[in-house]
Amino acid sequence: MSIQLPCPQCGECQLYKSRTRSRFEQTVKMMTLLRTYRCHGCNWRGWISKRRVMAEPSLLRVAATAVAWLLLALILGVLLAAFLFSR
Ligand SMILES: [Zn+2]
Repeated sequence: MSIQLPCPQCGECQLYKSRTRSRFEQTVKMMTLLRTYRCHGCNWRGWISKRRVMAEPSLLRVAATAVAWLLLALILGVLLAAFLFSR
């Protein structure tokens, strides 16, 4: 699974989750929010905070937010029309 974060080394915008390789990395992963990622562009591998990944808006999340706002506007419009025409 890729994430939409720029690579710290080359700036390419797709990093992939990388498996932990050692006991040390497993422990860091278990104790912190840090996760290992790899860039397929330049082969960079390193740690990025899970919190930072979550904060980055993915295209899917942006689309879901837009749809939610559209639905809300539609519902409010229908309610307003019902209110206005019921009088
Ligand atoms: Zn890179």
